[in-house]
Amino acid sequence: MYPNTQMLIAGEWVNATGGATLDVLNPATGEQIGTVAKASIEDLDRALEASMTAFQLWKKTPVVERAALLRKAGELLRERADSIARLLTIEQGKPFAEAQVEVLLSADVLDWSAEEARRIYGRLIPSRADGVVQRVIREPVGPVAAFTPWNFPVSQVVKKVAPALAAGCSIIVKAPEETPASPAELIRALVDAGIPAGVVQLVYGNPAEISEHLVPHPTIRKISFTGSVPVGKHLAALAGKHMKRATMELGGHAPVMIFDDVDVQAVAHTMASSKYRNAGQVCVSPTRFMVQESVYDAFVSSFVETAAALTVGDGLQSGVKMGPLVNERRVQAVDELISAAAKDGARVALGGERIGNKGSFYAPSVLADVNRDMRIMNEEPFGPVALMMPFRDVEEVVAEANRLPFGLASYAFSRSARIVETLANEVEVGMLTVNHLGLALPETPFGGVKDSGYGSEGGAESMESFLSPKFVTHNAF
Ligand code: NAD
Repeated sequence: MYPNTQMLIAGEWVNATGGATLDVLNPATGEQIGTVAKASIEDLDRALEASMTAFQLWKKTPVVERAALLRKAGELLRERADSIARLLTIEQGKPFAEAQVEVLLSADVLDWSAEEARRIYGRLIPSRADGVVQRVIREPVGPVAAFTPWNFPVSQVVKKVAPALAAGCSIIVKAPEETPASPAELIRALVDAGIPAGVVQLVYGNPAEISEHLVPHPTIRKISFTGSVPVGKHLAALAGKHMKRATMELGGHAPVMIFDDVDVQAVAHTMASSKYRNAGQVCVSPTRFMVQESVYDAFVSSFVETAAALTVGDGLQSGVKMGPLVNERRVQAVDELISAAAKDGARVALGGERIGNKGSFYAPSVLADVNRDMRIMNEEPFGPVALMMPFRDVEEVVAEANRLPFGLASYAFSRSARIVETLANEVEVGMLTVNHLGLALPETPFGGVKDSGYGSEGGAESMESFLSPKFVTHNAF
């Protein structure tokens, strides 16, 4: 039912040289379900060589052909969505319906990148002298190294691979060791669609060892990382030292600003469903709920009512709305933050404890009456916990939203155009969604500011990060 995952190097599915593997566990049971190959330096060197050879061919492959292959891979992904989603749920824990959405949205990213590839235009700049032609060509940057996390094992890979391939780059992906089988199926769809050997490659292993080898290597011209702020800063420094372009999609601590002119129950319902998606292990997860004083109590109780009704369990069981956390380490981390906040005076309005002793389940949790000195209000909890505090006016809520070094997603609910425009101008984030959940579409930019990183993974911006401008000036006379 669950495969042992191999790597894809130079067009072949292979075990590691020397046969090293890592264990893969099902977070719903804690039991081992398979293994994943653990790359040696020799494996990485073969991948680097193949990546450079493939890049020379792929960058010259007409863009319509590159686009057709990406669209074909998208079709294959849709045909295989249920079986891939099943693997994703078994290794990562999220409910099957969420896994299906992830795979189908990943197919949309392939389609969108295929379409956008056909619009990689250069430009002509009017010259200062008769006979001089000044043009800007946009060229693929070269072989890319990508590092992706376990929370969205398929879509985090496709957000890097699809625009890279569309732009004409080759790419080596180090996908997550915790959840290896579903991203391998995405790569298989690309291979089955006909992407030539070496253009896309897949490795797993010791993340630090792999990044220390790939990032400084002269073959690699760009890196793209999604994960935690500390690891991101380390890799950004390494990239800087070796003058590599980088995209960093790091953590957040998303503020949710709820004003008293909205339908409080409806907003509570929408946000409680969104908070516990993927058990809160989402970089844009709504986390700091700031609610205007007069509707604070009503909001907290409606939110708790919706959250309390969520069914937690094995993501393959029907009716389950929240699965386990990805591993025991995450359970410990979330529990520590919640316990410390409770000790410091937060009111545990819901949950605040693990569920059962098999698998890494944690209860949907709500901490009310938190304050800004608590650790959980300063560190990203990355788990199923909503933090609630009241606010007086727009100035206070903006100051709290901007207080942390993170600046990824933010949410706001208000019918006042004046308030919404103030937030749009004043909140220091990469994304703001107002009166609905509207983030992370293939065609819209996705990324952060401040410690949340730089670069963008969606929209036209995603293609941009894999292209370099080349200026050519020609005196034809
Ligand atoms: P972690 O910091 O150990 O690892 C985060 C990710 O970075 C993992 O995918 C890991 O494989 C990778 N990684 C770690 N060291 C690396 C290195 N030296 N080189 C290359 N890759 C490396 O944290 P974790 O316990 O796996 O996850 C918890 C934290 O990670 C969360 O608190 C959250 O902030 C962050 N995270 C963020 C995202 C996101 O979407 N931005 C996704 C997953 C995890």
